[in-house]
Amino acid sequence: MEEKTKKSRAKKAKTTIIDTPLAESKGSDIIVVASTEHTGAQPPETLTGIRKRRPQTKAGGLPAIGSALKHARKYMRIADARKTMFRLNQKGGIDCPGCAWPDPDDDRSRLGEYCENGIKAIAEEAQRQSIGADFFAQHPISELQQLSDFELGKKGRIAEPMILRTGSDRYSPIPWNEAFQLIGRELNALQSPDEAVFYTSGRTSNEAAFLYQLFVREFGTNNLPDCSNMCHESSGKALSSTLGIGKGSVTLDDFDHADLVIILGQNPGTNHPRMLTALERCKEKGGKILAINPLKEAGLTNFVNPQRPLKILRGGTKLADLYLQVKINGDVALLKAIMSMLLFQEKQELGDIFDMEFITTRTKGYEDFAKHLQQFDFRDLEEACGIPRGQIRKAARMIKKSKRIIACWAMGLTQHENGVDNIREVVNLLLLKGSIGIQGGGTCPVRGHSNVQGDRTMGIWEAPEKEFLDKLEAVFGFKAPRKHGFSTVDAIQAMYRKQAKVFFGLGGNFISATPDTEITAHALRNCNLTVHVSTKLNRSHLVHGKQALILPCLGRTDLDEQESGEQFVTTENSMGVVQMSKGILEPCSEALFSEPAIVAGLAKATLGSRTKVDWTQLISNYDDIRALIEKVIPGFENYNERVREPGGFYLPNPNRKQEFSTADGKAHFSLNKLPKIRLASDQYLMMTIRTHDQFNTTIYGLDDRYRGIYHERRVILMNPEDLEAAQLKSGDQLDLISEYDGQKRVAHKFIAVAYDIPRQCVATYFPEANVLIPVNYFARESKTPISKSVVIKVKKVEELRS
Ligand code: SF4
Repeated sequence: MEEKTKKSRAKKAKTTIIDTPLAESKGSDIIVVASTEHTGAQPPETLTGIRKRRPQTKAGGLPAIGSALKHARKYMRIADARKTMFRLNQKGGIDCPGCAWPDPDDDRSRLGEYCENGIKAIAEEAQRQSIGADFFAQHPISELQQLSDFELGKKGRIAEPMILRTGSDRYSPIPWNEAFQLIGRELNALQSPDEAVFYTSGRTSNEAAFLYQLFVREFGTNNLPDCSNMCHESSGKALSSTLGIGKGSVTLDDFDHADLVIILGQNPGTNHPRMLTALERCKEKGGKILAINPLKEAGLTNFVNPQRPLKILRGGTKLADLYLQVKINGDVALLKAIMSMLLFQEKQELGDIFDMEFITTRTKGYEDFAKHLQQFDFRDLEEACGIPRGQIRKAARMIKKSKRIIACWAMGLTQHENGVDNIREVVNLLLLKGSIGIQGGGTCPVRGHSNVQGDRTMGIWEAPEKEFLDKLEAVFGFKAPRKHGFSTVDAIQAMYRKQAKVFFGLGGNFISATPDTEITAHALRNCNLTVHVSTKLNRSHLVHGKQALILPCLGRTDLDEQESGEQFVTTENSMGVVQMSKGILEPCSEALFSEPAIVAGLAKATLGSRTKVDWTQLISNYDDIRALIEKVIPGFENYNERVREPGGFYLPNPNRKQEFSTADGKAHFSLNKLPKIRLASDQYLMMTIRTHDQFNTTIYGLDDRYRGIYHERRVILMNPEDLEAAQLKSGDQLDLISEYDGQKRVAHKFIAVAYDIPRQCVATYFPEANVLIPVNYFARESKTPISKSVVIKVKKVEELRS
């Protein structure tokens, strides 16, 4: 491809098509196009064709039961489905590999402690089909690349280790030992351990994660990016700097005691469905719900609990008492507007609204914050959030009347340039009300993947704290690397620039999870070796380095037998509860290794006699891994004993006692600027969202039932008035163009759908629209990609091509 990068801005802008834009393109006018190999970023020849129904206003109910059963029946053996369903999320059972929502501490439902998506996750993992040497011999990469992500996932469980040798178009089998030796050779041939990237997905158990970071640091690098970098890194940064701990403070029980639950930038009905049960209980006990989200989601309006037949008959429970359809990234403005109103009244009513005793004794920065709030013109705030004054007043009234307030949020807040500020603004509100560390009040960042929080606790972090590394050194007797490593966006850029040459992914689907698909594809192709530990085929196996390996592992549902007998693993949920998970199904192949065993094999082959760890012993009994975790990580005292207690144990969280581990022991108010969002009349702010038929990068089906969109994923939800103003209509095929730092990125062929979304805001599905998200544009402080605020233009397909 032609490459011209240094065009003068003074000259007429010229479109240049290149395939290596990241480093060289600054200031030029460039369109990034799909490379010739299929990365999943660009559309098939023809779209599948959309079917549209009215968006639903209720979540759960019989359709949820029907959908769950359909998936279980279609993809699992009936006996396996029966066995797993009644062990899922039970004490001592299988921890759902879906989201990180916690299970009740006390009695759990005998009917089943899971949601529709939990069953879909199990049906995906425990599918009856498997694929091995024959399958890969028949299907070259070039053919597999043409399949959709949905089709790839449904090919079956991978049954043996596979290698793609240099120059080949087909994976072929490789014995485990040879695979480990090959990786070890490639790693040891690097000029520096920092030339390797070791990624982790949030499904990885505590045991595997601890061993993995131990190996990586013994090898000599902190290059441990993870999926947390792309979701709640902003929450961690904001909570640590204001409250002294990067985790939420509430427990599930708090929802029973809350006066008010505020839900911001989160869609629990699709992404954390059992949260709806907690919200239902909150409502039944007299609590209120304030929903703040650009899209009106069924899971925030009404919930029909599938486990309560009477509720099914009577039509469920109304959830949101007030629903504010804020503009995308209008949350800081809205929160400031609400707090300004409260401050005004507080001054008049002298201490009746804010918790002045808490503020005085436990916090720092209130006076400055109060002054800061008064600097804003209310009309500017109204304009920036898109919510009329009357609605803001209603929200302020709900907050004024409430003492016990829980604030829940997800990626609608974190994935903006100002993602960290968004969370800090939420903390400001809770501090004003003294709503942290009380029963029924506190912070609740809702985590996406089942052990994403636990992996970070285990040390999967590119920026480890000194104390953690000191402890590793003391316990294991090796010199831990001190230089911070690559986050996910750093890792992509390093591979792109050939500064990193080996990519190892413990779980996940890197190419689909990450921003800037074409750039990331280019980065992976630059590597000498890419390795994926996986259960099923995914796009990342097809966008590979010069050599590539697929190492098939046991899933959560699989029985894990090691030398000392059957093993269990442990995970930490969104509320800091550590619990066990024990698989029960016969693995689809004898050739599968557990994730801890894969890490041990890798460590032995790479480190040889250099290692100070007895990897073989650790794998024979996972109790030995947990005994080491206990020595390194605070809060895991008597780990093996306590995790065997039904339901596990809570990790310490000082915020629950109104203690703040900041330098001065106080909770901190923060002064956060309003984000500057200026859109021309033909520009839109795009956020990526998930359908109801997917979990992160795993696509269970092609429907988005709650939003009434069926059979097609390449859609763009637009306000009907915006469509009309742009002389477009529902059903038009559009190309989407993002522009950042002089570069344009194009995602082809999206079907316009008129939808109830604020003006100049649009929504597209992840990962199809990831190609539009620049890898070098991310949240300040946290480096979380800005997947929820991408400025785009749209063009009718014929227009752009002509
Ligand atoms: S709410 Fe999350 S953890 Fe619970 S069953 Fe559903 S997907 Fe699994």
